[in-house]
Formats: sequence, structure tokens, C-alpha cells
Amino acid sequence: MKSYRNYINGRWVEAKSGRRTQSINPANGEVLGEVPLSGPEDVEEAVAAAREAFRSWRLVPAPKRGEILYRAAEILRERKEELARMLTREMGKVLPEARGDVQEAIDITYYMAGEGRRQFGHTVPAELPNKWAMSVREPIGVIAVITPWNFPVAIPSWKMMPSLVLGNTVVFKPASDTPILAAMLVEILEEAGLPPGVVNLVFGSGEEVGEALLRHPGVDMVSFTGSVESGVHVATMCAQHGLKRVSLELGGKNAIIVLEDANLDLALEGILWSAFGTTGQRCTACSRVIVQRSVAKKLEEMIAERAARLRLGDGLLETTDVGPLIHRRAVERVHRYVEIGRQEGARLVLGGEPAQEGELAKGSFYRPTVFADVRPDMRIAREEIFGPVLSLIPVDTLEEAIQVNNSVQYGLSSAIYTQDVNRAFTAIRDLATGIVYVNAGTIGAEIQLPFGGYRNTGNGHREAGQAALDAYSEWKSIYVDYSGRLQRAQIDNQ
Ligand code: NAD
Repeated sequence: MKSYRNYINGRWVEAKSGRRTQSINPANGEVLGEVPLSGPEDVEEAVAAAREAFRSWRLVPAPKRGEILYRAAEILRERKEELARMLTREMGKVLPEARGDVQEAIDITYYMAGEGRRQFGHTVPAELPNKWAMSVREPIGVIAVITPWNFPVAIPSWKMMPSLVLGNTVVFKPASDTPILAAMLVEILEEAGLPPGVVNLVFGSGEEVGEALLRHPGVDMVSFTGSVESGVHVATMCAQHGLKRVSLELGGKNAIIVLEDANLDLALEGILWSAFGTTGQRCTACSRVIVQRSVAKKLEEMIAERAARLRLGDGLLETTDVGPLIHRRAVERVHRYVEIGRQEGARLVLGGEPAQEGELAKGSFYRPTVFADVRPDMRIAREEIFGPVLSLIPVDTLEEAIQVNNSVQYGLSSAIYTQDVNRAFTAIRDLATGIVYVNAGTIGAEIQLPFGGYRNTGNGHREAGQAALDAYSEWKSIYVDYSGRLQRAQIDNQ
């Protein structure tokens, strides 16, 4: 069994406490490796290394920083299959989706490598004669990157690649459930030529390592992806400990609207992919179908018929459609929500129980589950379940569908199936989510556009695309007066 270590100041080191924990395959309980269980003393060293490295990394010309990222993208591409296979084993998603996770990291790494030669600022006319006005991006400093387990390669890459190309340094605390992928990603950054201290990796729990990062005065920004509950805590701590910059990407309760004029066969494919892909463990997973009443029964039958045929199993097997949940606690949590749905009076159409026959008993499997006759005020229609549970909510009109979509605390992704261009554009305008799809499901974002959500899905920042540069840089506005005399803005030009 392979043993992994923290990566601090360019060296692979044990946690000071000597404590270790294991990474487990959720499909069968296989032990994949051992990682350190670090504490605040390891964070101390990692932050010190990142602070020291920041002094020189910020002065490395951005095109050179971009070249290192380009090499990292090339290595990611070469090692894609190896990473994807380990990703399936460590996180559980089926292999084609694991390849997609790695591909997303490759895409963002190439994209941000290119930003080494862009990072555009603005040059604008000054209002006074013989005066120059422009703005440039500057790095923020040391960024703590705290990530969840559901996209163990893509999400850390979304955060680290823009941070690095802008001249920041990083202390990375990955999710406790997917440490091996984090180690592999950092190995690749090391091999690509990042100088010591620019990226540091500290394994451990949110309570110990995460918490120490939130409190540390040497951390300038926290970039966090996880649940709303954790996000509120992160924001509070960052405010109290030096008013740190903070970027939050939180949960979702995403809906697909199906209107009566929709191509139902197409909608069915989008619903199955969005609801049961990654076993429903995506922040953009579809957990609500808001359907016009006249086609509700037909769509329900179509979904139930197809979802019943989805095959559960180890994600490495080609025969598997749906992999495991991340661990047993997740199975229990999903099941609690199913019980709540029943008690609330929703009609269980399919599933509703853990899957434990044969080989499945070794893992954390839950049957694809469908509820019908769900009311928008039920908890299963409002709270993030993060599992393969879909609620069908009947409505009468497009306006009602949009209102139901917008009525939850989350606002990440939404979709509408219709063949009517007027209704499609009305929905594009009125759906209050950071991402809107027309005639496609709620998952499938590309890295060249902003990724993030309205309301409690975040705090207004976006990952990916040009928007990511805003999250990880400060603007500096520069005025150069070459008139040789005092010129007073807003006064001397009147
Ligand atoms: P989580 O909030 O439990 O944990 C996320 C990370 O925060 C982990 O690394 C964890 O160790 C750390 N953490 C926990 N408590 C902490 C604390 N007190 N201080 C510092 N760090 C702490 O979330 P999860 O279960 O790993 O992930 C699932 C959640 O992530 C879902 O809500 C999902 O919607 C969300 N998510 C959002 C996006 C997005 O981009 N919006 C993407 C993926 C996942």
C-alpha cells in the first residue's frame, strides 16, 4: 500500500504528529493508500513556505509562470488515464466521468497558461492633460485552497491554476476522502517546474487543518468549495481573522423545467444524465424536474422505466451506469431524506433504499430514486440531498415553473426543455441561476465561461473563464502625471 506525504517547501514530509489515516474505495472498501493527518503545526510550516515563496514568485514574469502551467497541462494529458482510474477508485464516479474530471483540469490548466500572456488591464484616457491612467492585476498573496471530494482534480485546478498564473502562492487542503488525487496533482505541478513553496499540500480534516488556515494571519485569501453550512463558517472566520478575501462556491438544488411542447425523449436523456450521473453528487446535479402538468404523468413513466434499468456497480466496470456514494454516512443521509419525502406525502415511484445485493454490499450504494407529486415547499424539494434522488414537481405555467425554480436558497444551474424560442428566451431572462441551459441538462459547464451561482450558492465570485482572474487578483489603478505641475482631478478640468 502506497504511503503519501504532505508537500511543504518543495519537500514531501510527514505530518509532525506522525498520525496517519487511510483512503478507502467507496465501491468495495479497498484501502488505497495512507496519508498524514496533519495539524496546525504543519499548517504553520506550509504558510511560512508560501509566504517566503510569494516574495519571488510574484516577480517571475507572468509568461514564465504560464509556461510552467503549460507543462503541467501536458503532463496531466499524458497521465490522464492513470489519474482517471485512480479517481474512480478513490471517489467512485464511473470511468468516463472520471476522465471528464481530469479533462476539465487539463482544459483550465491550458487556459490559465495562456493567461500568462494576457491578464489584460485597462488603459483609459485621463481627464487631465499630460496624465496617464491604467490598471493592472496584482496577486493577492497566499491563498488557502479548501476543496470537496466530488471533483478531486477539476476543482483544485480551477482554483490553483488562476491563482498561480497571477503570481499567488498556495496552501492546498484537499477533502479528506480524496487525498491521493490531490497528491497526484501536486506531483504534476512539481514535475512541471514550480519552485519550492509556491504550492504546498497539507492533508487533514477541516476541523484541524482547514480551521488553522482560516485563522492564520499569513493567509490572505481562502478559496473554498463545499456545503453552505461550511461556507457560512468559512466566511465568518475569514471576516474575524484579518478580513481575509474569501471566495465561496457552495451547494445547489438544480432544476430542469420541462414544458408541454418539449421533445420529451431529449428531455429524458438530459434528466437521467443530470440526476444520476456522478450518483447525484454534483453541485450542478438535477434534483428537481419542474414539469407542466399535461405531460407530467407521461414523463414520470418514461423516467421511471429508464432509471429502473440503470446498473449500479464499481465505476471501473464498463457495465456500470451509476457508481457508489462517497461513504456509508452519505448512504444514511440520503436515506434520511427519502424517509422525510415519504413523511411529507411525496409519492415514491422508484428506489428509496440502499442497494446491498451481492458485491454491492461491500460498498456504499443507493438505488436511483424518484418521487412524484412533490410540492415546492417540501424539504426534499428545497434541501440539497447530494445523492441519486429526483423530485418531480408538477406546475401549470412557465411563470410558475420559473417561480418554483427561483424559490430555493440555491441558484447554481437550471435548464429548460422547450421548442418555443419565445419561452426559451423568457426563461433565460428570468431563471435566477448562475448557469442556464436550453435543451440540455443542468450539468456540462465548460471552463471558458464563469462558473458559480446566485444567492446562497456563493458570495458572488465565479470560478473559471476570465471571471476567475477577478477572484484571485487585486486591481491596481495607476496614474502617471507628466505635466510637471499639480493637477487636481475633478477640479482643474472644470
Ligand atoms: P464540506 O463543506 O463538508 O467540505 C468541503 C471542504 O471543507 C473539505 O475539504 C472539508 O474538509 C473542509 N472543511 C469542513 N469544515 C471545515 C472548517 N470548519 N474549516 C475549514 N475547512 C473545513 O463539503 P463536501 O461534503 O466535501 O462537498 C459537498 C458540497 O460541496 C455540496 O454542498 C456541493 O454542492 C458543494 N460543491 C459545490 C461546488 C460549486 O462549485 N458550487 C462544486 C462541488 C461541490
